[in-house]
Amino acid sequence: MNKKQRAHLVQKTLNKLFPHPKIPLKHTSHYTLLIAVLLSAQCTDVRINTITPKLFAKAKTPRAMIKLTIAQIEKIIRSCGLSNNKAKAIWNLSKKLIEKHDGKVPCTFKELEALPGVGHKTASVLMAQAFHKPAFPVDTHIHRCGKRWGLSSGKSITQTEKDLKALFPKKDWIKLHLQIIYFARAHCMARGHKTAECPICSHL
Ligand code: SF4
Repeated sequence: MNKKQRAHLVQKTLNKLFPHPKIPLKHTSHYTLLIAVLLSAQCTDVRINTITPKLFAKAKTPRAMIKLTIAQIEKIIRSCGLSNNKAKAIWNLSKKLIEKHDGKVPCTFKELEALPGVGHKTASVLMAQAFHKPAFPVDTHIHRCGKRWGLSSGKSITQTEKDLKALFPKKDWIKLHLQIIYFARAHCMARGHKTAECPICSHL
């Protein structure tokens, strides 16, 4: 089976298992999604979904956020790890949104990646999930699955993104990135997978 055929089989299986994948992070606006994605680095979505309602009850816009101190933000988000850096990034990016973008989240990679604490993956999630622009955010789960399925060399996250984009139709990238994350969490964990029983690898 060549790469294209494997990719087709993977997508067919994911469509059966996760036909309508939902965005896992709670949010009510582009801004709250951006903050939730930023917080989710090295933390689980479940934990982030318990933290963000408390934060957004105090501040759900950039203007409200900069009225809090970095120490107040840090106290609320403390349980998500790297809270000191994340609190600083949230305050600084909120200030930059007000100064440069009239308090709105911009919708280009260049502008998003220029915000404090926002890297290519976070920008890709926003482009895909907030603005519905073709993007394929690659996190550690997608990186692992891409390599295990023989769809990418797994040399780097950048290479995996390039390889997956070349194999899957552009119109499906947004859905696929969510489907692969859900699959990886349910079946394709970093340790302890069973190839013979797996709905994907048993057919590849
Ligand atoms: S067998 Fe299943 S769980 Fe293991 S690598 Fe393949 S897809 Fe992932």
